[in-house]
Amino acid sequence: TAEVRDITVAAVRGKEQPFAIEQARIRAPQDDEVRVKIVATGLCHTDLIVRDQYYPVPLPAVLGHEGAGIVEAVGPNVRELKPGDHVVLTYGQCGHCNPCRGGHGAYCRDFFALNFGGDDGHGHTAITDAKGEPLHDHFFAQSSFATYALAREINAIRVPQDAPLELLGPLGCGIQTGAGAVLNSLKVRSGSSFASYGAGAVGLSAVMAAKVAGATTIIAIDVVPSRLELATELGATHVVNSRDVDVIEAVRGITGGGADFALESTGRPDVLSAGIEALAGLGMMGVVGAPKLGTTASFDVNNLLLGGRSIRGIVEGDSVPQVFIPQLVTLYQQGRFPFDRLVKFYPLEQINQAAEDSTKGITLKPILRIA
Ligand code: NAD
Ligand code: ZN
Repeated sequence: TAEVRDITVAAVRGKEQPFAIEQARIRAPQDDEVRVKIVATGLCHTDLIVRDQYYPVPLPAVLGHEGAGIVEAVGPNVRELKPGDHVVLTYGQCGHCNPCRGGHGAYCRDFFALNFGGDDGHGHTAITDAKGEPLHDHFFAQSSFATYALAREINAIRVPQDAPLELLGPLGCGIQTGAGAVLNSLKVRSGSSFASYGAGAVGLSAVMAAKVAGATTIIAIDVVPSRLELATELGATHVVNSRDVDVIEAVRGITGGGADFALESTGRPDVLSAGIEALAGLGMMGVVGAPKLGTTASFDVNNLLLGGRSIRGIVEGDSVPQVFIPQLVTLYQQGRFPFDRLVKFYPLEQINQAAEDSTKGITLKPILRIA
């Protein structure tokens, strides 16, 4: 039976503080939990906004929410997973509220508590630091900036053993978000136009998915030229550097009036407003970029109304992870969703470098190699 384990973690001790590599301990899996030996974990922009306390996750905490690894031990009520299974860890959902039962776990009634609460929901953490003090954890129901992590069976998604496990963690959040927004939420149609505001990890995943969906005009908008170049290689038919040109005019010009579908992943309200302005009639804007809590954005009410336009918030690409993550793996294996082009690997010890490279726009999707 499983015991408490010594682990290494990258912890955030205070707001805007660098990640600190520390020794810690993690308890055995209980109930429907699995303990996973983490092979690699992606670094997502959301880890950094939580480090900087845009969202009030209690500190000190172990973050990390794009973990991939091998099931090491299972709790007594785990039904399907077994030690040795390869899994991608994704967001937490309760599994029994109405949204969860309807296949919309990303809108679980307990989403904030389960993913950002910093404990098991009853005030207990599974991780203690070297002094025996609790470290806040359960971040996205995993806290995978660590050599081992606990997840529930519902958010540990089995993937084929012949897929490159060290690459797959970002399918649990950032990549799933961009691709799912296009394929599941917006339902981008063959022959339609799509504009991606932001060509980061989420935005470029959306570009690749729009190509999979058969969109014939795919516009990537960013301020970093190297990202726009990569967007072209991944399927963008047009790129717009919004530092150089008026983005509304540019998108209207390329599409002949406005985009049928758009996704905002910069987290900037001014970009969101511009994107809504540049929608075609009946066009739909998906919102995934996350600004500070309380941020507002404005739009012209009559432009929205008279054109039948809509704006839709999207969490985690509206996916049923058990279905969608394996689909993305297959698309990747067929060469139709080459998300490996976004990735650069770092050892866990270089997590602060990875964060800096991500913030500066040097690295699109850092993955920390852990085992
Ligand atoms: P990222 O930093 O890689 O991407 C953001 C991109 O926006 C960058 O390429 C940046 O150059 C670009 N940008 C910044 N200012 C711009 C401007 N004025 N005009 C055009 N482009 C501009 O981050 P990411 O990992 O792709 O994540 C994107 C956002 O999505 C973040 O806010 C993240 O927190 C959020 N997110 C949301 C969900 C969800 O479920 N809704 C899931 C994952 C990530
Ligand atoms: Zn729920």
